[in-house]
Amino acid sequence: MSTWRDYVRRVEPYTPGEQPNQPGMIKLNTNENPYPPAPGVTALAEHLPTDRFRLYPDPAASELVNELAAFYHVGRDQVFVGVGSDDVLAMVFQTFFNRNQPIFFPDITYSFYPVWADTFRIPYETKPLDADFCIRKEDYYEENGGVIFPNPNAPTSVLENLDFIEDILKHNRDVLVVVDEAYIDFGGRSALELVSRYDNLLVVQTFSKSRSMAGMRIGYAIGQAEIIKALNDFKYSFNSYTMSQAALMLGAEAVRDRVYFEACTEKIIKTREWVSEELKALGFVFNEPWANFIFASHPKYPAKELFDALRKEKIYVRYFNLPRIDNYLRITMGTDEEMKTLIRFLKAYMK
Ligand code: PMP
Repeated sequence: MSTWRDYVRRVEPYTPGEQPNQPGMIKLNTNENPYPPAPGVTALAEHLPTDRFRLYPDPAASELVNELAAFYHVGRDQVFVGVGSDDVLAMVFQTFFNRNQPIFFPDITYSFYPVWADTFRIPYETKPLDADFCIRKEDYYEENGGVIFPNPNAPTSVLENLDFIEDILKHNRDVLVVVDEAYIDFGGRSALELVSRYDNLLVVQTFSKSRSMAGMRIGYAIGQAEIIKALNDFKYSFNSYTMSQAALMLGAEAVRDRVYFEACTEKIIKTREWVSEELKALGFVFNEPWANFIFASHPKYPAKELFDALRKEKIYVRYFNLPRIDNYLRITMGTDEEMKTLIRFLKAYMK
């Protein structure tokens, strides 16, 4: 028997949300945006200059970097881009989390963090959220190898304010503090305004939610130039061309349309407001949601039972069979029509 099997790097993979593809389904399980990308993106996609596919893309991704720098009023040397924020975050872990001390993140959070830490052999410690699912900032004052948390947090949809983030930054001047802002555009205040004052802050965002482009795989990070240079050096050490030419062009086009971006996120916030009221009227309990999803529990109906009942109706929401959150559903905001169908079903079910 050949021995190569003894030398396989065994890893525990991340489990992404289900991607069902059924006619008539209502897909509220992976926090995608129910609306199309900006009209300019669709127009460009229909006429992509395929002659440019023949050539390698610009390794510096300048067209996209420049648009993002202009949009956020930062220097071009302050923006790093990658294949979704998963790619950006994986590189952040490898580039900056190299101390012997454990990195810190919440116990209930984006479940990819422990997977990357294990894969890259980075020691980590999780810090329990309090009973209201809030991060306890004092837990992050001890010596550590780096700090990362989403804001708003996932899957809880709970937002922390900028004073809170600044407090964590001040207590961690010697390590990188990464704020994963995958869901910040749905009403939260971004930590980007702290970047100029903290050389240990990195803000990571994505095109997957607020810009309706999960399928294009575009993520980015903004921080001081020295951090961005370290990330680019790391990227160039194993793959110069991480992003496709199509993603670079379509991503840049999406950023050019601020009006559509704001209208689209505003629409989802409005949907979240009325859906919150309806869910409360049905007896659901949840924290004030700040992402494009609501994380809700019901005192009478077990979450798993509701999840299964919804699934039979081809309404897909997310259920996590994990300690402390196994009686919650994470419900992504779809179109108003889709959400009306969900509420109608719940009302009939709970009669
Ligand atoms: N961070 C958080 C908190 C997320 O929920 C997600 C979405 N799964 C990501 C990062 C990654 O998103 P993407 O790779 O699509 O940019």
